[in-house]
Amino acid sequence: MARIVILGAGVAGHTAALHAKRKLGADHEVVVVSPNSKWNWIPSNIWVGVGRMPAEKVVFPLAPIYRRKHIEFHQALATAIRPDGDAEDARGAVDIRYTDPKRSGQTARLRYDYLINATGPKLRFEATPGLGPDGGHTASVCTPGHAVDAAAQLDDVIARLRAGQRQTVVVGIGHGTCTCEGAAFEYALNVDHELREAGVRDRAEVVYLSNEPELGDFGVGGMVFEEKGRRVTSSEWMESLFHERDVRAITHAAPTEITDRVIHYDSVADGPGSIEYDFAMLLPPFGGVGLEAYDRDGNDITSELFAPSGFMLVDADYGDKPFDEWRAADWPRTYRSPRNPNIFGVGIAFAPPHAITRPARTAAGVVVAPAPPRTGMPSGMMGKIAAFTIVDLIRQGGDARPHEAPMPELAAACIASTGAHMLRGSAATMTMSPVVPDYQRYPDTAGRDIAETRGEIGLAGHWLKRMLHTAFIYKAKALPFWYLIPE
Ligand SMILES: Cc1cc2nc3c(=O)[nH]c(=O)nc-3n(C[C@H](O)[C@H](O)[C@H](O)COP(=O)(O)OP(=O)(O)OC[C@H]3O[C@@H](n4cnc5c(N)ncnc54)[C@H](O)[C@@H]3O)c2cc1C
Repeated sequence: MARIVILGAGVAGHTAALHAKRKLGADHEVVVVSPNSKWNWIPSNIWVGVGRMPAEKVVFPLAPIYRRKHIEFHQALATAIRPDGDAEDARGAVDIRYTDPKRSGQTARLRYDYLINATGPKLRFEATPGLGPDGGHTASVCTPGHAVDAAAQLDDVIARLRAGQRQTVVVGIGHGTCTCEGAAFEYALNVDHELREAGVRDRAEVVYLSNEPELGDFGVGGMVFEEKGRRVTSSEWMESLFHERDVRAITHAAPTEITDRVIHYDSVADGPGSIEYDFAMLLPPFGGVGLEAYDRDGNDITSELFAPSGFMLVDADYGDKPFDEWRAADWPRTYRSPRNPNIFGVGIAFAPPHAITRPARTAAGVVVAPAPPRTGMPSGMMGKIAAFTIVDLIRQGGDARPHEAPMPELAAACIASTGAHMLRGSAATMTMSPVVPDYQRYPDTAGRDIAETRGEIGLAGHWLKRMLHTAFIYKAKALPFWYLIPE
């Protein structure tokens, strides 16, 4: 009987666990280690963050699902990986510390035959002084709890606007190396929508603050769409969306310090600047969750499994090349650790080989370098193919051909809500293929297949986004035929 341990129960880890158990049945053990008792559909945190959806609608308890599916669940944090085992047992092992209230603080060592690291990001609010909801001055929508606090602060802003005061709302990124700009963009336009619905938009200034070199870059180098025979860049598309909604954009900039009233930033083109604000939602930069690794003798081998960022090294080309020399082929295909092929790093947890958007610095040397996003769809695909590879290795032996999900071949759809309302709502729907541009294959269309790369805005997009919320929660609850819903 083989034992598969999966670290993390987010998009990638939960998907991997359900697929592995469905294929392997009772013959093999699937184990999940994750610190939270609940699963969270993160994209809908945006709606929680503007008060359009209660937090209970974006979460559900994991334990009953895992009990029903005969998956062993440890509500715990993984702290260290021992790929070569220890003095007692040569099998790989992972050290965990329980967060489950009944065993809080207790530790254990779990043995594995195969390990999937799907631990997602550490939210690095500490990277910018004054950033973040815990001890800082800004809100976040990265967790349901953060989103509830953001909605309360937005309510206060609306109350002050109703009382006749002017208010400045800043939405964007909290550090020059942030990723996930799409989520910030989505929140900015939802805030705009809520202010209009409340009838107070005219007294509010809404500012979008981003590290992207231009609007519509999203950390993937931007897109080119074809609209009625005319080529339009995602930058032109976003500029018109922002112009129509009177949202002011500050791009290619990085916050450097945030006080309770002022965001100080530095920008590549214009140098230092500051904005006085009344409410700010700024995303944190992401890092790996800080797993350590030890060999059988207890020597620290963290740098053999992880990049300095804390993300896991997989089958990518991590050679130190200049930005202009990177190729689509540098990206991983199987997500296996080169040191230990029975370990996989998937979703946000794997280390990207390089930036997709050209990194820059301000005159003062502040880094403004959007990190590559690993969004939900590719993360789910990576979890699924890692599970399928393991299933084949168990059934066919070590020669089984690994499954592949390279981001330069995967397509992704991103539906960014621009206002949650069944009649007056809308969403910007973007599809891109591939996610990581391949400039050799598609030299004239920003590295993407123009037939598969599209942008549309409208009410139908809002309905689709609402349907996806229901479909993905259905799938994550492993209800009948869940596996027919694509990643
Ligand atoms: C506000 C917001 C909106 C977004 N909207 C969209 C969207 O509309 N579309 C889209 O495609 N993507 C969106 N994304 C991105 C999407 O959420 C991520 O791509 C996706 O969650 C990545 O999946 P993951 O499994 O790698 O990480 P996560 O989903 O973050 O899961 C990581 C898991 O690991 C667990 N974990 C953490 N540390 C440990 C540890 N030490 N040991 C064990 N477990 C651990 C966590 O608790 C969690 O269960 C959004 C992100 C944000 C922040």
